[in-house]
Amino acid sequence: MKGLIIIFVCICSLFACNEAPKNNTMKEENNTGKIAIAIHGGAGNLKKLNLTPEQETAYKATLDTALTAGYAILQNGGSSLDAVQAAINVLEDSPLFNAGKGAVFNHEGINEMDAAIMNGKDLSCGAVAGVRHVKNPINAAMAVMKNSEHILLTGEGAESFAAKYGVEMVDPKYFFTELRWQQLLEALKEDSVELDHDGKKATAQTFTPEQLREEKYGTVGCVALDKNGNIAAGTSTGGLTNKKYGRIGDAPLIGCGTYANNNSCAVSCTGRGEDFMRNTIAADIAAQVEYLKVPLDTAVKHSIKEKLVATKGRGGCIAIDKQGKIAAEFTTTGMYRGWIDTNGLKEIWIYEKK
Ligand code: ASP
Repeated sequence: MKGLIIIFVCICSLFACNEAPKNNTMKEENNTGKIAIAIHGGAGNLKKLNLTPEQETAYKATLDTALTAGYAILQNGGSSLDAVQAAINVLEDSPLFNAGKGAVFNHEGINEMDAAIMNGKDLSCGAVAGVRHVKNPINAAMAVMKNSEHILLTGEGAESFAAKYGVEMVDPKYFFTELRWQQLLEALKEDSVELDHDGKKATAQTFTPEQLREEKYGTVGCVALDKNGNIAAGTSTGGLTNKKYGRIGDAPLIGCGTYANNNSCAVSCTGRGEDFMRNTIAADIAAQVEYLKVPLDTAVKHSIKEKLVATKGRGGCIAIDKQGKIAAEFTTTGMYRGWIDTNGLKEIWIYEKK
């Protein structure tokens, strides 16, 4: 009898050990099979006047290519994580945006980039900061996520790690663009630290002083929902023109510029990183959705239009939840952005209104 009781107790404790932890990682999937994706290419002082029709077309075409690349992966049953990476790769490879090719210069005239990627399914994430040779920093972030016990690697260490896992390295000359160089020279004159789309910087190919003074941020980001009900977020940036002393922004900091959690939402931000860091904007949005159960657009609006603004922060973000609801908000006059919603409807926007 005593033996039977012992066996019974052992069996019970065995089941108790295998009980799924009541945390995010084991959360029961409640997926609808829907897919959706949203991207941004930076927020800033974007006015119709500042862009020629040709430039507007070029920006929209690249945003379209990025959306299409990410969406194709989702349509083929791929993961939100892969879709985010694919969309960001397109934007990183374009000189139009402040990420990868086209990244802004730091004070020493060097392109130093940051990126992060996060999987809402299990909260796995990876990030790199201050990398100078990585062609697509989001790929290095992905390599960290998949292969490292750590989350954020910086500088040379991040680069050797990425190289070890086959991430493509390039000569720093690859990142040079004349516009960003002129922007640095202008910022050095004024000793100012500029946001790409928000400083006095332009998108023009010949640069008037006014154009160089246009205020814009050019960080790129993507959030997506895959057919398995998993959301993901990624952000990639060159940071701020004329940044000094190894300055790192919000993009590679989980919960600041980038965050994803199936229990709430996925978020990617753009703007002056310091303000996103002090307000932990991405985590703030997710916390409202998770704990207050507010709709995604309400949470995004509160964090960007009230919390960020209260500390004089500027910029914006895109977000998606597990139902595929998409929200985009910014404090500036525009934000390069686009999405394909759960009905397959595609929209691409630059200014507040089309
Ligand atoms: N958030 C980026 C940073 O502060 C800049 C940007 O969005 O363009 O590094």
